[in-house]
Amino acid sequence: MSLSIQQLTKYYGQQAALNNVSFELHAGEIAGFLGPNGAGKSTLMKIVTGYISADAGTVSVCGEKVTETGLETRRMIGYLPEHNPLYPDLYVKEYLQFVAGMYHLGKQSKSRVDEMIERTGLTGEYKKRIGQLSKGYRQRVGLAQALIHDPKVLILDEPTTGLDPNQLTEIRNLIIEVGKEKTVLFSTHIMQEVKAICKRVIIINNGKLVADSTEDSLLHEV
Ligand code: ADP
Ligand code: ADP
Repeated sequence: MSLSIQQLTKYYGQQAALNNVSFELHAGEIAGFLGPNGAGKSTLMKIVTGYISADAGTVSVCGEKVTETGLETRRMIGYLPEHNPLYPDLYVKEYLQFVAGMYHLGKQSKSRVDEMIERTGLTGEYKKRIGQLSKGYRQRVGLAQALIHDPKVLILDEPTTGLDPNQLTEIRNLIIEVGKEKTVLFSTHIMQEVKAICKRVIIINNGKLVADSTEDSLLHEV
């Protein structure tokens, strides 16, 4: 099992942002994580990536508990946050080299950066500053940084929000491509996004899991 989430609960004050949420994802699975704004999607993703801790429950990546082993499991996870903290003054390549440095990729750094530039379609843009790029290209940079250390699991928090139709198609295709070899958890509040990209949908509302199903059967029920 690539990603196992068991009975995850998180409170902000008196309010439960997540209430006893459990699901598991296999290698090579792209799961849509659907729910309205405020449902708890970002909170779950931040716990999975180790940015915040849960009040109860566990997250395991490839059999290792995220909360207990810290850095080792983080290396198995790639994360594109909803509000990706990109640095507008940095050049694309410079930023990716910086991220590669944080993962201590050493001698592999240069080839990984070049490979990610190519695979995410940044070949024509990597000499630009991040601030000069369109939103679609900034999302490619976001994907490149999330994939640079070759993680097993990729966590994407609303990666297609605010893209124009062309950019949307391109980013979707990239995610589908990546999903052939990695486990992807992809959050959105739009069902169409799930239909376009995912074979499985996990739905939360008010911090509770309300459905976990293959998309076809779920659509059938609705
Ligand atoms: P989603 O990503 O599905 O929009 P979030 O995980 O961001 O949902 O939020 C779930 C709930 O937790 C919301 O009610 C939100 O207002 C609340 N929340 C999220 N982060 C915090 C925080 N840092 N402090 C207090 N409440 C928060
Ligand atoms: P989202 O909740 O979808 O991640 P937002 O723009 O609503 O996006 O929230 C931005 C940041 O503020 C997030 O890091 C989130 O955890 C935090 N946040 C959300 N709701 C609250 C809240 N009620 N109180 C404090 N922080 C919050």
